[in-house]
Amino acid sequence: MNAPVPNKFIKGQTGEWEIVIGLEVHAQVLSKSKLFSGASTEFGAEPNAQVSFVDAGMPGMLPVINEKCVEQAVRTGLGLKAKINLSSIFDRKNYFYPDLPQGYQISQYKNPIVGEGEVFIDLKDGSSVRVGIERLHLEQDAGKSLHDQNPDSSYVDLNRSGIALMEIVTRPDMRSSEEAAAFLKKLRAIVRYLGTCDGNMDEGSMRADVNVSVRKPGAPLGTRCEIKNVNSMRFVALAVEYEARRQVEIIEGGGAIKQETRLFDSKLNETRSMRSKEEAHDYRYFPDPDLLPLELDVAWVAAIEKTLPELPDEKRARFVAAGLSPYDASVLTAERELADYYEDLAKGVDAKAAANWLNNEVLGRLNRDGLSIADVPVSAAANNAIVAMIAEGAISGKIAKDLLDIVWNEGGDPRALVESRGLRQVTDTGAIDAAIEAVIAANPAKVEEVKAKPKLAAWFVGQVMKQTGGKANPVAVNAALKKRLNLPEEG
Ligand code: ADP
Ligand code: MG
Repeated sequence: MNAPVPNKFIKGQTGEWEIVIGLEVHAQVLSKSKLFSGASTEFGAEPNAQVSFVDAGMPGMLPVINEKCVEQAVRTGLGLKAKINLSSIFDRKNYFYPDLPQGYQISQYKNPIVGEGEVFIDLKDGSSVRVGIERLHLEQDAGKSLHDQNPDSSYVDLNRSGIALMEIVTRPDMRSSEEAAAFLKKLRAIVRYLGTCDGNMDEGSMRADVNVSVRKPGAPLGTRCEIKNVNSMRFVALAVEYEARRQVEIIEGGGAIKQETRLFDSKLNETRSMRSKEEAHDYRYFPDPDLLPLELDVAWVAAIEKTLPELPDEKRARFVAAGLSPYDASVLTAERELADYYEDLAKGVDAKAAANWLNNEVLGRLNRDGLSIADVPVSAAANNAIVAMIAEGAISGKIAKDLLDIVWNEGGDPRALVESRGLRQVTDTGAIDAAIEAVIAANPAKVEEVKAKPKLAAWFVGQVMKQTGGKANPVAVNAALKKRLNLPEEG
């Protein structure tokens, strides 16, 4: 029999095809002002309220580099374990568009600020895949044309014009829609940990050009198509799936893939041609004469490196070493706030018990209420107290959940609530024995059944728990019951 086909291959009429994906991600730099001007970058202002003469492309205006943006690019490069180029050059990328008043975009072409690096992506099955980073360069964003404000004319909003972007280019190292989405997720986590981009895809702070080709497994790379400006992880996955199938159908139908730029239509769930390679712009790149080459000081870069936080991969490795499964560790390190919350929750208690409590009880309730970890109504310290009380045997797992509900809805200190509401677990054998006798007296037939079939003891444990309002220690109940009914230890 053939080995099972890993689901990352797609099946065509002529057999299996491998998908090859490379991404070019535009990430908006977190900075108060723009790349070459002092205008504000804040999202949501009135149109054209945040436009300096530089951003409006007024004649005679000179760009002045914003040191903060350079620092953010270097910081991101370091987080991508990439080579920092101490000398880089800003070029003019020339094209005409109404939302680009300069008539060119200042970008970096042959000499970017950051060179090769790498990102490890975490897949659902617990495995991890290395994706090479080719480069990261700094460039200006363009403005925005608004076509839906007036039936007779288009408007231009230049608030975005001149905002700093980092373009992060990967090697064609991804092999499935899952991997492409997982890469974006990981990259987003890294820049958010670093504080260099807010990763807010809804506001366009991160968007990806998705390059897709297909080939027979092991064959040389096929011709790629580039899908422009995809703005969510789900859409990236859908665009890859659609595009790969489209290409397989063309090739299997005897056709050839033309290299072209396409767009993803999220309503129709398909990609459509925008322009072919022949129509590709000739941008006539040349070094911007208004800007000197950007020269960085080694000591300045080293100083930035010293301020890097612990990144998701390192945190994840530390969590695994503390006893978490790779999967739990990935989930808990995906957001820095969540990882911090977990670490507070896990102080002095079992790492795995803390992770289970957070995943099942806390995240479960957040999910139910449509909240994120930033809005969690119960502090990590309060959850820590609950988990500690379970470990101490002070409360049962069942009571712990009820207790969390109380704190969730009404607030309060968990330890004080256990006393004031009488939730402490009953380990007193006298009380447990009394409950057992009551259950036995009420169910004589069941007693005979259990003696014949010791596995049914669980039913008795449940009844005794009920009898004690869930407060009996189940381990103590189990032991007492077996002794009373003369059941074998392992039953
Ligand atoms: P260009 O300079 O024309 O933009 P690049 O070589 O820089 O081309 O590649 C741009 C992006 O396309 C990169 O992310 C790269 O990984 C990806 N890419 C290149 N070749 C392929 C291919 N055959 N299939 C899929 N992606 C590819
Ligand atoms: Mg390129």
